[in-house]
Amino acid sequence: MKLRTKVLVVGGGPAGATAARFLAEGGVDVILLERDSSFVKPCGGGVPSSAFDEFSIPKSVVKKEVKSIKIVSPMGERLDIEFKGVYLAIVERGEFDNALREMAEKSGARLIEGEFVRFIDDKPYKVEANVGEVKAEIVSEYVIAADGVNSRVRTALSIKPTCTLFTISERIKGVKTGVCEFWFGSSHAPCFYSWVFPKSDGISAGTGGSEPKEIRTLLEKFKERSGITSDGVVKIYRIPVWKGDLFNKGKILFVGDCAGQVMPLSHEGIYYAMKSGEYAARAIIEEKADNYKRVWKARFQKRFALMDKLRDYFLKDDISAERLVALHRRPEVQEASMRLWLRKDSSKEGLLSYMRLFGKFLS
Ligand SMILES: Cc1cc2nc3c(=O)[nH]c(=O)nc-3n(C[C@H](O)[C@H](O)[C@H](O)COP(=O)(O)OP(=O)(O)OC[C@H]3O[C@@H](n4cnc5c(N)ncnc54)[C@H](O)[C@@H]3O)c2cc1C
Repeated sequence: MKLRTKVLVVGGGPAGATAARFLAEGGVDVILLERDSSFVKPCGGGVPSSAFDEFSIPKSVVKKEVKSIKIVSPMGERLDIEFKGVYLAIVERGEFDNALREMAEKSGARLIEGEFVRFIDDKPYKVEANVGEVKAEIVSEYVIAADGVNSRVRTALSIKPTCTLFTISERIKGVKTGVCEFWFGSSHAPCFYSWVFPKSDGISAGTGGSEPKEIRTLLEKFKERSGITSDGVVKIYRIPVWKGDLFNKGKILFVGDCAGQVMPLSHEGIYYAMKSGEYAARAIIEEKADNYKRVWKARFQKRFALMDKLRDYFLKDDISAERLVALHRRPEVQEASMRLWLRKDSSKEGLLSYMRLFGKFLS
């Protein structure tokens, strides 16, 4: 099978599906290659409500509207924070990703279920893909690499793998909660946090760390601490550590987890994956691949760099994590955090208010 297109998008998660949709809406011929349309990415599925309006995503995929969170410090101090006028939407990733791919298809993208294998040529790009039992060759002027944290496109180009941490999450049916919980403590989440998120049929509980061998023990310790006694299906998956060093190599553009674009400290990635897909698509529509890096940096560089430093400071030990939770008792800290997290405030003032509150911890 031989196919030709202007842009080949590899990976149909939030980053790739959004890129394909913006390209198709811009009148660009695009193929969206997704290895497995039934893949369900291990994920809390928390998406700020503001993203649904920003990307015109149908709210029918929202399973729960979370309007408050609970934060627990290493010493057991509990803090409840109510959201005002916004909520964290909980989605099921299989359904959410399908909805994004459908939007791309409706806009004119050609969705193909198939797997990127390797580059055969680079002038123009010629890609080998497995489409079912059939070997396909796809020729394209641009490639968008959106194939996630374990990107095969990166490997094919000999670009070193994304720096990662490890997560473990357990899907437990029948347990109910309406809030998202974030638990800090080095005994179960060294340099990370543990979480309990509501799901459509129960909860997802999980934790993270840097050592894959220790990750199951960390989850057991977290379950013990938080009093979760039921068992469910466990999944281990990598999550990128942001470095901000990969945008494009010629006419190959890297987006989402493939480019490591997960917000340090909060580990939020869905919104940023969609934004990078949008920015990469716009750069291609303008026929200026370098614009992607420029626009992304103008919007997000300072935020990511700040959160990176805050992560290093607040998650280095339990005393610092205790301080992070204590700080969030202050209404102005809560307001500044909600502005950046849930409202995706892109104004300079939003970032400055955050820096005013947290800057003293960075010197
Ligand atoms: C446990 C956990 C919890 C998380 N919770 C949240 C959360 O609550 N909120 C949040 O915002 N973020 C969360 N994240 C981060 C979020 O899941 C990611 O940042 C997001 O999925 C990135 O989207 P993406 O499109 O870049 O990559 P992915 O979602 O990984 O999509 C990549 C796609 O590429 C496809 N693919 C892979 N290889 C190939 C190939 N060779 N050929 C073709 N296709 C291929 C895959 O099938 C997949 O569909 C969490 C992450 C983890 C691990």
